[in-house]
Amino acid sequence: MKTRSVLEGIGPYNPPRLREEISVDYGSEEYVKLTMNELSFGPLPEARAAIIETLSRAGRYPDRDATPLREAIAHAHPGISVGNIVVGNGSSETLVDLMQILDRPGEVVIPWPSFPFYVSSARVVGLDAKKVPLDDHHRADLDAMLAAVTRETRAVILCNPNNPSGTYLPLSEVRRFADALPEDVLLILDEAYYEFVDDPLYSGSHDLVLESDNVVSTRTFSKVHGLAGFRVGYALAPERLADLVWRVHVPFSVNQAGQAAATASLGQPGAIAERSRQMKRERERVQDAFETAGLEYVPSHTNFVMVGAKPQLFEKTGVLVREGEALGYPVGWSRVTIGGPEENDRLLGALA
Ligand SMILES: *Cc1c(COP(=O)(O)O)cnc(C)c1O
Repeated sequence: MKTRSVLEGIGPYNPPRLREEISVDYGSEEYVKLTMNELSFGPLPEARAAIIETLSRAGRYPDRDATPLREAIAHAHPGISVGNIVVGNGSSETLVDLMQILDRPGEVVIPWPSFPFYVSSARVVGLDAKKVPLDDHHRADLDAMLAAVTRETRAVILCNPNNPSGTYLPLSEVRRFADALPEDVLLILDEAYYEFVDDPLYSGSHDLVLESDNVVSTRTFSKVHGLAGFRVGYALAPERLADLVWRVHVPFSVNQAGQAAATASLGQPGAIAERSRQMKRERERVQDAFETAGLEYVPSHTNFVMVGAKPQLFEKTGVLVREGEALGYPVGWSRVTIGGPEENDRLLGALA
């Protein structure tokens, strides 16, 4: 059979290590999983109720256009209309949909270390990924990224805040970068951790989307909304690009329960903001403990922290974290998701 040779060089998604693969025997107690930046709170009560309510309709296809969800997203972003919103089975699908609208062959410029999925998904759709190293402060190096753009560049992805470094760039810098990019290059702002950033100078990329022909922002319900298992993401995009995305999009990919849960969760901005505050208090506690223990770490604006310690350090108290080398960092670094208070107690117990 004639299959695509590019697939030889791409492995399947390599998930974090599971308990069975850990050499340290932690006995019968459950391991704490701080590997994937999920929110320990899970869905809000309103989202849980909405999920249950959809059961009676589960024999029917979901709303293909996800209209109530898109209306709720539009309502949350002044100036954005339903025509500016596309949804996906997680923002991962939306990222792939966006890459599918780009001309090929060509390349996608990305910061590195960043989200490894950019590399594999670009290659799967027939684009190359060009990695531009972060600067000395673990932030995306916009000058270097701009310099990396060539006639072959179809898109630049800016992960803001960046996973796995947890650093962010203010909107003014993003705007300057967007202005400097050639108009035929798509700028994808992956803002999966948008809701965790406190700095008022960060937020507002939806205005940039509305002012531009070539800027999109992707968001997700997998992080602050605690709905990773229901797979809902979206993009804010100029209408022309949104229209193209719907053409490549797999119909019905966002299931009914996910749509309902996400809509309900968006209806509770106060509760979502409170969870974000709780997470930040825990993050400060974890970072303070790293400081006291003399560990190097990157001050975070997300619900995870990159720390200069091997995963094995935390395994002694039964905590699984993501090994840095899986994410483009050197051996000896780990990405630690901020868990609930007890989970973080276990994490910090390993430093004692
Ligand atoms: C978690 C994450 C996403 C979200 O993925 P979903 O498919 O929406 O679950 C996207 N981008 C980055 C950088 C992430 O860390």
